[in-house]
Amino acid sequence: MTAVSPIQHGATASTPVNLLGLDAGALADWVAQHGGKPFRARQLSRWVHQRGVANFDDMTDLARDFRALLQRECAVAPPAVASAHRSRDGTRKWLFEVGQGNAIETVFIPEDDRGTLCISTQAGCTVACPFCSTGHQGFNRNLRVDEIIGQLWWARHELMAEGDSGRLAGAAPTDDRVISNVVLMGMGEPLLNYGATLPALRLMLDDNAYGLSRRRVTLSTSGVVPMMDRLRLDCPVALAVSLHAPNDALRDHLVPLNRKYPLRELLDACLRYLEHAPRDFITFEYVMLDAVNDTDDHARQLIDIARQVPCKFNLIPFNPFPQSGLRRSPAARVKLFARRLMDAGIVTTVRKTRGDDIDAACGQLAGEIQDRTRLSALVPGRRQAIPIIETPR
Ligand code: SAH
Ligand code: SF4
Repeated sequence: MTAVSPIQHGATASTPVNLLGLDAGALADWVAQHGGKPFRARQLSRWVHQRGVANFDDMTDLARDFRALLQRECAVAPPAVASAHRSRDGTRKWLFEVGQGNAIETVFIPEDDRGTLCISTQAGCTVACPFCSTGHQGFNRNLRVDEIIGQLWWARHELMAEGDSGRLAGAAPTDDRVISNVVLMGMGEPLLNYGATLPALRLMLDDNAYGLSRRRVTLSTSGVVPMMDRLRLDCPVALAVSLHAPNDALRDHLVPLNRKYPLRELLDACLRYLEHAPRDFITFEYVMLDAVNDTDDHARQLIDIARQVPCKFNLIPFNPFPQSGLRRSPAARVKLFARRLMDAGIVTTVRKTRGDDIDAACGQLAGEIQDRTRLSALVPGRRQAIPIIETPR
């Protein structure tokens, strides 16, 4: 398939409406404004999202005059693909151009029983966590709905066109979907781009679009408390919270947003979220940084937190990048840390590093984005040193 040039969502006299940017309500409105019945919108949605068809002439069961209208006024246009990469372990990565020298990344991770697509919601990120290469880039801009959904549309189309070749050898799919799960864990903070993230989530769940269950769509947040409250009412998908530190003093450094929404407020927001969540636990992500947040004392403090919020822990071995000045915890330390949590009855998993030969692992998603921002202006104190605790091993 040829890459299509990016098209703005929202019509003007000269720019077509990009249908990838319209959720079910917006599409029904557009169709109604043009004299169409609601079922036309559902039919069109299935062509665009389920069958991945971009050419209106191929939408054979649509009336001829409706197709002519679509030709004149609309487009199905994902962001342009700048490059595609395939890891030795089957992980795939696409770099999409989003204009003005910005690029975003999307990663597909095939596993035995599922295929997970990790998508981006912003070009860059304002939160500026020191262990994250996206954070080091500063913020460029929010993605639009069509750019968020365009990643899913494109990846699904590419993987389906290849059959099951995106999967690991011998892998058995749980159903006929190559992409069974979507995680908003790519570049950016989804809850700081709520206006575009919400319609994109609705499309992922819509039976006439991607039809994923709320349990199979996971939004990861660094803890934007007011927007967690909005999400729990608007579209409560599975929630992962980037904890990374068991106390405010350390979290203020590792996740600077903590200065605005400290741990107590975050944990209370998690409890409120659970009243509506599709799962009865929050996943706490915890990046393992050597001598920073990986001691037995940290594990003890985390156990206290876990007693307050039903949760599972996902320990993520830090994926290093040159500017971070941080080190990954040794494997034995990660194992011991996990053991401490598990001995306290907390379900704990250690995330496998995937796709690191193509820089597709968590926190390495920086691509060739230009750093055109002044980080120190965005987050005062951003360049402060992180307290390193030297413990005898
Ligand atoms: N902004 C959201 C979602 C994107 S980051 C958030 O922070 O939750 C997705 C996950 O990758 C987060 O848990 C983040 O902490 C983790 N991550 C970022 N940089 C990393 C790195 N260098 N190594 C390992 N995990 C990292
Ligand atoms: Fe932003 Fe998440 Fe990276 Fe922190 S970890 S800088 S919130 S993308």
